Amino acid sequence: MYTRRLFLAAAATLPLAACRRTPTGPAVPALDAARIRDELAARNTHLAALAAAGKLPTTASRTTPPRPIDLLKEFPELKPLLRMAHRLHPRYSDEPASDQSKLGGAIAWPAGEPWPTCETFKTPLVPVLQLRADDCPSQVKFKPGSDVLQLLWSPRESKDTGLPRPTLVWRKQKDLAPPFAEPPPMTDAYPGYIPVPCRLFVEKLLEFPDWSTAKVTPFRERLEKWTPAGGGDPVKTYTDTLSVAPGAKVGGFPHWVGGANPPACATCKRAMDYLLTLDADEWRLPSWVPVEEIGKPELRASASNAAGLALAGNYHVFVCRRCPDWPAQAAS
Ligand SMILES: [Zn+2]
Repeated sequence: MYTRRLFLAAAATLPLAACRRTPTGPAVPALDAARIRDELAARNTHLAALAAAGKLPTTASRTTPPRPIDLLKEFPELKPLLRMAHRLHPRYSDEPASDQSKLGGAIAWPAGEPWPTCETFKTPLVPVLQLRADDCPSQVKFKPGSDVLQLLWSPRESKDTGLPRPTLVWRKQKDLAPPFAEPPPMTDAYPGYIPVPCRLFVEKLLEFPDWSTAKVTPFRERLEKWTPAGGGDPVKTYTDTLSVAPGAKVGGFPHWVGGANPPACATCKRAMDYLLTLDADEWRLPSWVPVEEIGKPELRASASNAAGLALAGNYHVFVCRRCPDWPAQAAS
C-alpha cells in the first residue's frame, strides 16, 4: 500500500512556491506543480469514490456479455485469425502480494537492484503492471526463460508519443523472493500516472483481428457490403462490438480509437508485436460492460477506471521481439 502513502506524502509536501528541487530530479516548474496539485485532488476524489463503493471480494468474477452476432457464421474465413485475449478487469480489492499479477501497487523488485529512472525526466519509473505468465494467453510469448512481466513507465509524457514511455522487465518467478524494494518517493510524478493498486479479475475470451489487421481477402470487401442484424455501419459494428474488447487486457488485438497507429521499432524499424492495453475507461463501449456491472451506473468510478489512470484513451504497449533487448513502445 505504499502508493497510498506516497500520495499522502506528496500532498503534504507539495510546494506552493514556483520551483523546488528534489533529490532525484530536476527542478519542477510551476506548471508541473499546478498539474500535480490538480491531479492529487482528482485522485483524492477518486479514492473517496472507491472507498464508498467498497472493495470487490477476491472471489468475484467479471464476465463479458456474449456478442450479439455470431461472426464466425457470417465470416468463417476469420477462424484461423482468432486470438486469445485475457481481459484484466482491474478492480479495487485487497491488494495481491508483491509477486502476484496486479495493476499498480508493490511489485517484486529485488531489493538489491537499483530502482530504474527515466533518462529524460530523471524521475523514478512507476510500477504499473505485473503479469505472471499463467495469467496471460499462451500465444503471448515471454522472453525465453521468463515467466513474470513487469511494466513500468515514466510518469510524464514522452515527446515522441505524448504518452508515458513504457519499460518492460522480464523475470523468472523462481528468482523472486523477498525482500523486495519499495520505490523511491515519486513526488515529481503526475499522480494520474500512478495507478491505485488493483487486483485483476482475469477473463479469457477470443478476439477477431482489429479492422486494420484483418487484411484478408475477400473478408474486408464482404464485410463492407454486409448488413449487420439490427442495422448500423458494418465496419463500426465490427470494430466496436464484434472484434476486439476495450479496456485493460493482454494478448488479442488492439482496439484502436480514431484509427490504427501501430508503431515501428525505434531500433530495427520493423513492425512491433501488440502486447497489452491499459485503459482509463473500460465502460467506453456499452456492449462490453461486464454482466455483473450492467445497470449499475453507481459503479462507474470504481469499475471503469479503478486505477484512476489519467489516460486520454487506450494505452497500447507493443514489443519488438526481433531486437535482442525486446524494446517496448506505447501507442494510442
Ligand atoms: Zn526491433
